[in-house]
Amino acid sequence: MINLANKVAIVTGAGSGVGKAMAVLHGAKGAKVVVSDVNRRKGIKTLKEIKNNGGEAIFIKADTSVAEDQKLLVENTIKHFGALHIVCNNASIKKSKEAPAEYPNEGWQEVINSNLEGGYYGMHYQIPALLASGGGSIVNIASELGTVGNKSLPAYVANKTHVAAKELANQKIRVNAIGPGYINTPLKRKSEGTDSFYDLAGLHPIGQLSTPDEVAELALWLNSSTANFVSGSYYIIDGEYAESV
Ligand code: NAD
Repeated sequence: MINLANKVAIVTGAGSGVGKAMAVLHGAKGAKVVVSDVNRRKGIKTLKEIKNNGGEAIFIKADTSVAEDQKLLVENTIKHFGALHIVCNNASIKKSKEAPAEYPNEGWQEVINSNLEGGYYGMHYQIPALLASGGGSIVNIASELGTVGNKSLPAYVANKTHVAAKELANQKIRVNAIGPGYINTPLKRKSEGTDSFYDLAGLHPIGQLSTPDEVAELALWLNSSTANFVSGSYYIIDGEYAESV
C-alpha cells in the first residue's frame, strides 16, 4: 500500500484532467500537495477537492513557460512545506491543428514555450530543491504522439518525446516519463456518444480511451518507494495505440 506521508509534491497543470487526477491521488495517499496551474479558478477547485478528502494542499499560480514563475513555485513550496520530494511536470497545451505548412508561427512558439521550455525550466529549479530534500522523484508527462507523430500537431509532437533525465539516480533523484494515449478528459467527455469520440477510441486496439485516474495511478507508483529501482524509464500507457499506427 503506497503511503506518501511526509512527502511534498508539486503537480503542474493540476487544474484539469490528468494533473487534477494526480494531485488528488497524491493528496489522498498522504502527500502535501502543491496544486499549481496558470488558471487560478481551476486550481482552487482541485485544492478544495484535496482538502475535502482530508488532504493537505496549497495552490500556487504559475505559468510553466515563465522561468521566474517556475523558480517562485519551487521557492514558495520550500517556504511553505520545508522540502520537495515529488514533481509531476504535466502542464501542457496543444493549440491549433494544422499541418506544418499551415501551422502559425506564433502557435509553434507558444507551444514550445509552454511545453518544451516549461519542462526544462521546471527541472532546472526542481532538481536543486530535490537534492536539498535528500532526493526524490520526477514524472514528466509526455504523449504517445511524441513516438508515433501526428501530421496536424507539429509543435506538440516536437516536445512530447519523453524527457527522462539520466545520471541523477546516483544523487537519489529518479526521473521517469509517461506517454499516454488519448485520455477521456472532461473536454473529451463532452463528445462522448458521438462518432468522433468512437473513432478516436477505435484507434486504440484496446477499444477505449484511457482515463485521467489510470495515468495518475502510474505516476503515483513511479513516485512511490515501490518504484525505487525505476529511473530513466519511459512508460507508455496507450491501449497499444503506438503499436497499431
Ligand atoms: P488539460 O488541458 O485537461 O489540462 C491542462 C492544465 O494545464 C489546465 O488546467 C491548464 O490551465 C494548465 N496549463 C496549461 N498551460 C499551462 C502553463 N503554461 N502553465 C501552467 N499551467 C498550464 O490537459 P490533459 O488532457 O489532462 O493533459 C495533461 C497532460 O497529459 C499533458 O501534458 C498532455 O500533453 C498529456 N497528454 C494528454 C492526452 C489527452 O488525450 N488528454 C494524451 C497524451 C498526453
